[in-house]
Amino acid sequence: MTKNNYILIIDDSSVNRAFIDSVIRKTGYPTMHATDGLDALDKCVNIRDTGDSIALCIVDINMPRLDGLEFIRQFRKMNQPAPIVVLTGEDDETAIQGNKLLDASVLMCKPFSISELLFQVNNLLGL
Ligand SMILES: [Mg+2]
Repeated sequence: MTKNNYILIIDDSSVNRAFIDSVIRKTGYPTMHATDGLDALDKCVNIRDTGDSIALCIVDINMPRLDGLEFIRQFRKMNQPAPIVVLTGEDDETAIQGNKLLDASVLMCKPFSISELLFQVNNLLGL
């Protein structure tokens, strides 16, 4: 059976998820969507339990229930090594400044262009 290597798109805005999906579809990787950090952790557990893997996460910071920073903390605790693209807004500056948790992540300030996002994703996936 073929194993899937997913790009996980985590954002509480369905418009943002659809936009990001339309861009990264060009990579050929299968995508999975999550509406907040908790939903994303559930999906990570499912992916792991089915023997699939996560190639990359694209995660919004500001989300209900569990925000992007807490998701990243929990994700790393699961020993998930996948690179992370963090989508930040102006209001997130204090939370992200000097945050060691984000050392291995690429930060992208909203609004970002299609070409910027695709460049970062391709780069992280080694495409
Ligand atoms: Mg949001």
